[in-house]
Amino acid sequence: MPELPEVETVARRLQSRLPGATIADAHVLWGRTIAYPQPPERFSAEISGGVVNRVGRRAKSVVVYLDDGRVMTVALRMTGALILAASGAAPDPHARVVFDLADGRELRFRDARKFGRIGLYPGRGRRRVADVFARHGPEPLAPSFTAARLASRLRRRSARLKTLLLDQSFIAGVGNIYADEALWRARLHPLRRADTLTEAEVRRLHRAIRASLREGLAGGGASYRDYVDPDGEPGLAAERMRVYRRTGEPCFRCGRPIERIVVGARATHFCPRCQPAPEGETA
Ligand SMILES: [Zn+2]
Repeated sequence: MPELPEVETVARRLQSRLPGATIADAHVLWGRTIAYPQPPERFSAEISGGVVNRVGRRAKSVVVYLDDGRVMTVALRMTGALILAASGAAPDPHARVVFDLADGRELRFRDARKFGRIGLYPGRGRRRVADVFARHGPEPLAPSFTAARLASRLRRRSARLKTLLLDQSFIAGVGNIYADEALWRARLHPLRRADTLTEAEVRRLHRAIRASLREGLAGGGASYRDYVDPDGEPGLAAERMRVYRRTGEPCFRCGRPIERIVVGARATHFCPRCQPAPEGETA
């Protein structure tokens, strides 16, 4: 599933090629992809004629800002991808929405498993688009996300670190891949309770979250299954993972085999020596 580095990569690459483009028409091929407005015919009618001003990201969504102030959000979820196809490119059997651009290109929302969602909302500052992200936590790469801010958010929580890092209301954009990577970098066990961290451990976790996300971004995102950039190219970050999906392989720091446990139904990878289990835990 695309996380912050993957979605940010998509947003940046679209930002270099989409601003100024007019969306001439939109074909909704799978109605449930459209979250708002309903029905899909209304979405198509309302987006048609829209001119792209810029493309950004919030949490795990690509955000397309139109010239007239309206905002289109694209949540990629499990398998969603935004592909810029040349005019006359072969149809994509997994395309759920196809935007015809006035210059002949097509922006295709491809989504094999159909969990992705697209919405079109009035501009920023007005109610609806704010609602989409209202329950999301802070952006971990924003300058305002300081170690002190992380410390104050951790202090109030008794949840396990892995569970908390996956909670989008706690911190936006981190998923299973970068949660495991960040905890290994910080030398913290996934089952540690948030409110047991020392100040030094919080600072390590803060640095580790940002370093893991930045490294993912530098590799153009991690492709395990369906993630590709707008040119259909996979990212390279999967090759640089320290623990994620490296069960049984030696830890890069100490050589012990990486172990895998399940936390909250999610596969979790860690080094049993570098990330010591909290007291009372055998995992
Ligand atoms: Zn180790």
